[in-house]
Amino acid sequence: MKILLVEDNEAIIMGLHYLLEQEGYTCLVARRRREAERMVAGELPDLMLLDIGLPDGDGYQLCQILRQQYTFPVIFLTAREEEEDVVRAFDLGADDYIIKPFRNRELISRIKNVMRRGSKEREVLQCGNIALEVESGRVRVAGEEVTLTKLEYRILSSMMAYPGKLFTRDEILSDIWDISGNFVNDNTLSVTIKRLREKLGDTEGRVIRTVRGMGYRMESHSV
Ligand code: CA
Repeated sequence: MKILLVEDNEAIIMGLHYLLEQEGYTCLVARRRREAERMVAGELPDLMLLDIGLPDGDGYQLCQILRQQYTFPVIFLTAREEEEDVVRAFDLGADDYIIKPFRNRELISRIKNVMRRGSKEREVLQCGNIALEVESGRVRVAGEEVTLTKLEYRILSSMMAYPGKLFTRDEILSDIWDISGNFVNDNTLSVTIKRLREKLGDTEGRVIRTVRGMGYRMESHSV
């Protein structure tokens, strides 16, 4: 886990660098706003600790610029404790706001918390070249986004969560009963699977396998 510390105070840099490395993180340091932008463009950090007062700009500007392009978590770390400062940071997409002087163990605990939250949001199920982003509901096949209906998405996400598991037709039907709002019969299921396969480029059923007389199984190889 790489943490990019954007900070211009050498004493804080020294202390935090030591603390983070002790905790098993790799700590990279940027002392200027521009330097931070360059470093992020070169290699994405897993999290950024961001000071507000920087020699060539402020943390707000940096956060705003980064948020247009990146989703990694940002924790503001600053002496500014006015409510409006805190609110502004959150409005710009900050994941947390910690006021200096901070307590070491609390800081580490809040970093871990933000990372846990972040990893859940970015969770991606992968089967061959099919990627499904759990939080956003995006599905990509070989990097290309495909649009699925609610029903197709529900079936795919259930199956991708358990690749290799047999899903009987009855199981799938009872699972999609709730979201479809009306009765889904066996034939509708067959048609939905057929459309889903087409969208996934799996017309031969090599990824969503038919298990004859039983149901379907997700294979993990590429389409
Ligand atoms: Ca500063």
